[in-house]
Amino acid sequence: MENPTSQKLFDSATELIPGGVNSPARAWRSVGGTPLFFESGQGSRINDVDGNSYIDYVCSWGPLILGHSHPDVVQAAQDATAKGASFGAPTAYEVETARLVVDAVPSIEMVRFVNSGTEATMSAMRLARAATGRNLILKFDGGYHGHDDALLVRAGSGLATSGIADSAGVNPKLAEDTIVAPYNDLEAIEQIFDAHSERIACVIIEPIAGNMGVVPADPEFLTGLRRITADEGCLLIFDEVISGFRAAFGGAQEVYGVYPDITCLGKIIGGGFPVGAYGASVELMSHVAPLGPMYQAGTLSGNPVAMAAGAATIRHLAKPDTYARLALTTAQLADGLREIFNETETPATVNHATGMLTLFFGVDSVKDMTTAANNDHQQFTSFFHKMLEHGVYLPPSPYEAWFISLAHTSEDIDATLQAVRDSL
Ligand SMILES: *Cc1c(COP(=O)(O)O)cnc(C)c1O
Repeated sequence: MENPTSQKLFDSATELIPGGVNSPARAWRSVGGTPLFFESGQGSRINDVDGNSYIDYVCSWGPLILGHSHPDVVQAAQDATAKGASFGAPTAYEVETARLVVDAVPSIEMVRFVNSGTEATMSAMRLARAATGRNLILKFDGGYHGHDDALLVRAGSGLATSGIADSAGVNPKLAEDTIVAPYNDLEAIEQIFDAHSERIACVIIEPIAGNMGVVPADPEFLTGLRRITADEGCLLIFDEVISGFRAAFGGAQEVYGVYPDITCLGKIIGGGFPVGAYGASVELMSHVAPLGPMYQAGTLSGNPVAMAAGAATIRHLAKPDTYARLALTTAQLADGLREIFNETETPATVNHATGMLTLFFGVDSVKDMTTAANNDHQQFTSFFHKMLEHGVYLPPSPYEAWFISLAHTSEDIDATLQAVRDSL
């Protein structure tokens, strides 16, 4: 596939924008090569600026669960835009989308919309500190919750290593308040609470991890985490920015039957427009201004276009059989991959949950960041480029989730599996 226009655009972009991109993963640093520039998408397919077409498993990193340019979403966004892109005052759209979210997500009674998942987790932490009067945050190694200072921390080895920031420019005083624990390890959690009892404001977790590759939590681990945090008077935050409206209509909390104190949402609930949200019980949300003393605001929060696109998406997802269909398509891809690796005796693991999947080369099981990091990076890199040649656009890193949308057909999956055979 030729991509001279992408090359040219990327050359200009690198002069004007750091690394040529507005979010680092888009720069393909992990796999090398020139990132493709896209100009349109339709259903499961995207078209680059040189006229090449691909089956898309990035789906804008999660939001596009209905596929690209779904007619209901396009119509809703167009109608809202024509009436006025923003008022900085309440609109009916916010009420409708809030109603849909509250009705869908079991643990949310009241919700506040923001503009990104980062803002959602940042605000949820502030709420946890406001409600508990405590300061420490516990997160998991390999858990990504946006780029807020306190959460850009990941721990070296060992149990509750007090945070060493991954990123330059993070206030070390903030990072010190973040404790990092290994995922799926309840014993580690117990030890951390023994050492820091009554000082931890909240535990924040992706109940189905999507940012160390897909790693679902063990059910006993989530149940244990719920029990311990409740006993300790510490709030449990589910970051469902990916899993919300994906793992099930009510998110991972519906799948596991484990309910957090605070839920963070994003991605899908904006239908492809910038959005985030955090929600909880009425009692907890009463800490948020103007009801309470915890300040949090946003000029474009609850933006009518994003709310309209989000509501159109959620209404579509509420139809019967949606998630059964998504689960089936995902299983067809996951099982098909496993079969190919079996036949070809390629050492690899496929982890999946409804609508999301990661293939780890060279490892036989992945349950946390340490085991994820054992994957064969080099093999993924050459696989990524071969798949591209065969018309399949995968996330450009072995630690990302492939996103399956409702627009992906059984034929798309068959074509993808054929591309995998050819690539191997
Ligand atoms: C994408 C993501 C975020 C951050 O959302 P942004 O809209 O990119 O700020 C937070 N948490 C998780 C689990 C995510 O996948």
